[in-house]
Amino acid sequence: MNACPYPLLASPVPFAARDNDPLTETTVNEKVLIDCKFIKIVEEDVVIPGGRASKRFCLRHGGAAGMVALGDDNTILLERQWRHPLRRAFWEIPAGKLDPGEAELTCAQRELVEECGVSAKRWTRLGELNNAIGYSSERIVVYLAEDLTWGEQQLDDGEHLEVVRVKLDEALAMCADGRITDVKTIVALFWLERHLAGRAAK
Ligand SMILES: [Mg+2]
Repeated sequence: MNACPYPLLASPVPFAARDNDPLTETTVNEKVLIDCKFIKIVEEDVVIPGGRASKRFCLRHGGAAGMVALGDDNTILLERQWRHPLRRAFWEIPAGKLDPGEAELTCAQRELVEECGVSAKRWTRLGELNNAIGYSSERIVVYLAEDLTWGEQQLDDGEHLEVVRVKLDEALAMCADGRITDVKTIVALFWLERHLAGRAAK
């Protein structure tokens, strides 16, 4: 039997990004193909390791913030929202795009008020995720929002969404069985479960 040729990395494994990375691709020319509202699609001529030329197509996105709003009764807020690229509605945590220059936490606090009418006294950063690394620069920072105060939604003109409360255990079951497929929601609930387990262990 052949030996596995791949190195076993020692734990903890470091971050993948590194200085002077031999995997680097260098952009030598770029052309904006589409520039609309919140996305740009760019065609880039790159030089790949070894010196060959290639092309990359990237969707540039200004980033977003989302949050799990956790109530005292161990329920979280989910939205049901129409997502036109897939022609159907999805269950997802509240989230929204950053305004230009806006800090992620400010965006999360603003979006929770706008979409759900909820303000939270306690905010914890759960992590950041890249939801489509093959073609998009989008980055979503996710927070836990607790100590909630209920008010009125302030939806943008033309924004339609339904807001519900779901037991956290049920939301996790929805991620496991395919009722939730939205990536930021699945990742956020994974982080939240670990965060709460860590808190309980203290
Ligand atoms: Mg939104």
